[in-house]
Amino acid sequence: MTLHTTRWRPDTCTCIIEYSWEDTAPEEQRTHSVHRVTNKCEAHKNLNDKEIYAAVTEENPRKNLALSKLMDRFPHLIEEITDESGNKYKRFKERHKPTFKFDSDRHLVIDIPNLSSRDKYLAKAEINKHFKNAVDLA
Ligand SMILES: [Zn+2]
Repeated sequence: MTLHTTRWRPDTCTCIIEYSWEDTAPEEQRTHSVHRVTNKCEAHKNLNDKEIYAAVTEENPRKNLALSKLMDRFPHLIEEITDESGNKYKRFKERHKPTFKFDSDRHLVIDIPNLSSRDKYLAKAEINKHFKNAVDLA
């Protein structure tokens, strides 16, 4: 039995979370218990480890889902590329590469550059449909 540790650096803040698990359990039965938060970002610095885990595992998937909904909605903003291992994946074209930030209320604000005003309108509608006020477009 070996105890493994994985370090997760989410791209939604600068927190660093370490998980540990034992390799005797099959993967689907593993419970990812939070081992410890080794770095607390400015927004989460007053939370305890458990609260940080809850916050980050809500904020990070919210960002991923919002971007994924926008990718699905706007295929003309997307390109398919193949990495060195031959895996294909989709990403925003360079000139539409989104940036995102969380405001002081932890609302996610996504900025997609070079959107036409029509696409911007449609993108806001798409985001409102799924996320109400939790996500906004810059
Ligand atoms: Zn954080």
